[in-house]
This record gives sequence, C-alpha cells and structure tokens, in this order.
Amino acid sequence: MTNKLLLIALFVVSLFSACKKDASSGPVLGKDDAAFNVYEDHFLQALWKIDPDMATHNGYHKYDSLLVVPNEKSRSAMLNFVKYQNDSLSRFESNQLSVTNGIDYHILQNQLEFINWKILVLKQHEWDPSSYNVIGTFAYILNEHYAPLTKRLRNFYEKMSNIPAYYKQLQKEIKNPVPELTELAIEQHENGISVMEKDFADSLKKTNISQSEQKQMLDRSHVSVEAIKAYTAWLKAMKNDHPHSFRLGKELYDDKFKYQIQSSYNAQQIYNAAVERKKFIHREMTKISRQLWPKYFGKKAMPADSLDLIGKVIDTLSGKHVKAGEFQPAIEAQLQKLSSFVKAKDLVTIDPTKSLIVRKQPGYMSGVAIASMSPPGPYDKQGNFYFNVSSLTGLPADKSESLLREYNQYTLQLLCIHEGIPGHYVQQIYAQKSPSLVKSIFGGTAMAEGWAVYSEQMMLDNGYSNDPEMKLMWYKWHLRSVCNAILDYSVHTRNMPKDEAIKMLTKEAFQEQAEAEGKWKRVSVTSVQLDSYYTGYKEIMDLRDAYKTKMGDKYNLREFNEKFLSYGNAPVKYIKAAMLGVK
Ligand code: ZN
Ligand code: ZN
Repeated sequence: MTNKLLLIALFVVSLFSACKKDASSGPVLGKDDAAFNVYEDHFLQALWKIDPDMATHNGYHKYDSLLVVPNEKSRSAMLNFVKYQNDSLSRFESNQLSVTNGIDYHILQNQLEFINWKILVLKQHEWDPSSYNVIGTFAYILNEHYAPLTKRLRNFYEKMSNIPAYYKQLQKEIKNPVPELTELAIEQHENGISVMEKDFADSLKKTNISQSEQKQMLDRSHVSVEAIKAYTAWLKAMKNDHPHSFRLGKELYDDKFKYQIQSSYNAQQIYNAAVERKKFIHREMTKISRQLWPKYFGKKAMPADSLDLIGKVIDTLSGKHVKAGEFQPAIEAQLQKLSSFVKAKDLVTIDPTKSLIVRKQPGYMSGVAIASMSPPGPYDKQGNFYFNVSSLTGLPADKSESLLREYNQYTLQLLCIHEGIPGHYVQQIYAQKSPSLVKSIFGGTAMAEGWAVYSEQMMLDNGYSNDPEMKLMWYKWHLRSVCNAILDYSVHTRNMPKDEAIKMLTKEAFQEQAEAEGKWKRVSVTSVQLDSYYTGYKEIMDLRDAYKTKMGDKYNLREFNEKFLSYGNAPVKYIKAAMLGVK
C-alpha cells in the first residue's frame, strides 16, 4: 500500500510542477486553490482504494469488486494514508485558500485526526461486532441502478471471493465485545443474509449470463452464506465473561463528539443547553395545554401535575390521524402545500428542476425509519431525490395504530417539513450546487439535521399554522431532538440506567412506550449521532441571531437561509465564521 501511495505522491508532485511552470516567483509545489483541488481529488482517490466499501456507498464504483479483510495490515494501511495525507495537507494554509477550500481544509484535517483516533484510541474494531457487516454494501450494489445489472452482479461475485477470509479474521479481531452490539450484529446478519441467499440468485435469473457461469456465481454465494452463518454461530456461542460496556465513558464521548459533530460547543455545553431548553419547552407546553383543556375536556378537572396535563392533551390530539392506506397520499398532498407556503412567504427558493419523488420505501431500507429522504450520492449530480415512505398497510393493527398516532395529523406535517420542504430535501439541493465532495462526505450530519430541525420552527414562526394544537405538537416533536441530546450524553457519560431513560422519554418527552424502547435500543448501539440534531439546531439559531445583529435593517430571512445553505454540508461553525466574516 505504501508503494501505491508513493506513486500517487509522485504523480501529484508532477502535476503541481506542471501547473506552476510559468509562475516565475511561485514555489515549485502549488499552495493555491487549484493545487488544493488536485490534492482533494487525490485524497479521495487514495481513500477509495483502501476503503472500497465507503467508496461504493458514496457512489464511486471503481472498486466495487474489492473486499478488504480487516486486520493489522489494513489498519496500518489506513494509518499510513493518514500520515501521508497529513504531510500533504500541511503544505497549505487555510487562510490562503478560498472560503470554501478553507472549510474543506479544516474538515480534512479533522477527518485525518478522527481516523487515527478511531484506530488507535477508540478501537471499535475490537469490541463492536456490528461494525463489520459486508451485507449493506452487497445490498447497495444489487439494488442501486447506477450500472447495468450484469456488471453489478459480476462485481458482486468478485467481491464475494474474500467473504470467507473476512469473517474468519473476525474471530481474531473481536475481544470481549459489547453484548448489545453482539446481539445487533447477529440480528443484522440474520436479517440481511437473504441478499446472498436469495436476492442475488433472483437477480441472476433476470440476466443472460450463461448457465455455467451462473452456477459458478451461485456456488460462491453458497460459500459466502456458510461463512456468514458460521460467524453468527460463533458470536452466539462466544464465552464473554468480561464484556466491554456499551457506554462510551466521558473521555471517549467528548473526543468522539469533537470529531464527529465538529461544533464550536463541547458535549457538556450542549447537554447543559438541552437541559435548559427542556425546562423552557415544558413551561410553554403547560401554558398551551391549560388553554386547550376546556376545548377537549370541558369541565373535567385539570390534572394538577403539569406533565400529566400536557400528556393528556397530547394523547387526545394524537387520535386525529389518517388511515393506514392514506399515509403515502397524505404525504404527497402535504408536500404540495408546503412548497406553496414556502414560495408565498418567500422563505427560500426551491429549484423547480429538482423534483422530489415520493415512493414506497425499498425493502432493504425497512425497519429504520417511518420515512426518510434519499438524495443522489455525492458523485451523482443527475440522480433523483426520493421521499421514502414505509407502508403501514401490512402491519398488525396495534402496531399500525401506534405509528399513526405518533405520526398524527399534526406531526405528519412536521415530518414532511423535516424530511422534505424546506428540510432535508431543500438543503440537499443547495448542497449539490456547492460542488465539494469533501463537505458532502466528511462534513458530518449536524448541519443537515440542525437545518431540518430549524426549518420546522422557521415554518411555524412564519405563520404556517396558528393553531395552538399545532404549536403544542411541534413542541413535542422538538423535544425529541432536545431529549436525544440529553439521553445520549447521560447514558454514555453518566451511567443513566434504562428505567430512568424510559421514564424521561415517556413522561417528559411524551413518547409512546414502543418509541421510547426503540430509542433506548438506539442509544445502546450508537453514540454521539443522537446529539447531532439539537447541536446543529442550536448552532444555526445562534448564527442567525448574530447575523441579524450584523445586518441590522438589511436583514432578510430568505437571504439568510440561502446564504447559509450555499456553503453545502459544512459544519455550522465554519459557515458561521464565513457569514460573520471572522476566522
Ligand atoms: Zn386511531
Ligand atoms: Zn433528519
């Protein structure tokens, strides 16, 4: 791997020399924006080569046929990559570059430190069996239509050749794993194995690949299935007397937060702010609930406890919901309304050439969320934007009723704002116009999630609905982000026990029991991700306040929104520096 990197290094040097030939006084190695763009390109090319799975997921398909076996050698290849790229990056100075390249510089620097930290300090490869799962990439190759099916199937076949070695090696890598993550790994492999066991064979039948070649390809899928089954059997039988805790602990959490969220706040500050925000929201919800009580409960006595009062009003309002079969059409109609409202109020311009296609959620995405937005990959400028909606019609009646109550008449609108207009979909259209792969790939999710959460509030603040019912339900919806942050920090750094967590989510955030249980599962198999929504939101609100002060009479909301979005998927702290003109 070192040799290949050296070759790339030589190539970069020769390119830079060629660029700079005419500049008589300039250095031999370029330090300007043109040179930086070449550097970025080489950074990604080199990374994709040593991390083909990440390449595939980002829509770069040159290495689809490769599967890297995780071991000491693959980790040292990654550490060498970091060392080499750090050297190259240090040649540039962020304040000598354009604003957008300056941001990329910081993002790359952070990313390199993050990779190092993950391998040398976090060592997730030792204790998280779910961090190894090849099936997601195979499903992607099979289901995304970026190349002809035959070509994708041949890559699938080639990639499978390393599956036995891959899973065999894991028996050496994994030590005292986290039980929750072990269970997750077993569950995900058992649920996903049909990709190799069935979907691959079904797809082969649709091609004109010869019978003999098909037989060969199927034989390999059988071998792969056996290797994966042997892995889950090994996990199930493993003696694990001193398991690693799923709780990250304060030190690791603080570092992970710093690298992953790339915020101007630290984790503790966000936790403190979220706790205050929760108190504020409860006071506001109490006022609205008192106002609404007579309308829904007549002369019945109001509960003395304010959380009980809010809970009862929310419970009643949740009964207003569409039927299971109307869920997707309701979303389609809602998106139309939102689009007209955003236009009428001049909140943000939406490019009419980029339409949002509402579709039934593809099978391989199921079980994650009720609805989600899939933008085209960073390499795919012409791809579609999809609003994926789970089908509720096939579910057992009680499950579907619980989901419909959760996504009731009010929150369904907020869901469409968050995922669609002017949330994720609109943000991604703007991000696509800011041509920076580095931001799209390594910018983190706090800006995008923060924007979606911010846009819910922005719609209400601009008169989207004047119903107190809607305001109350928005607070409940917003409390989710706030409590996600409190939960994540408390569980990972302060040993918050499960019963206390469930109590907070059901009593103080008014979540259904099933939703709270699902959240507990999520916090026990992820860390920091749940903190991104509130952190991003808070940073955007802070920035908008500061920007308002800076602009005075010239402040305009649409102009703020569009300017903010124009930087692409960058961490908010860098957008803030650029918009306020401070470094
Ligand atoms: Zn109902
Ligand atoms: Zn979101």
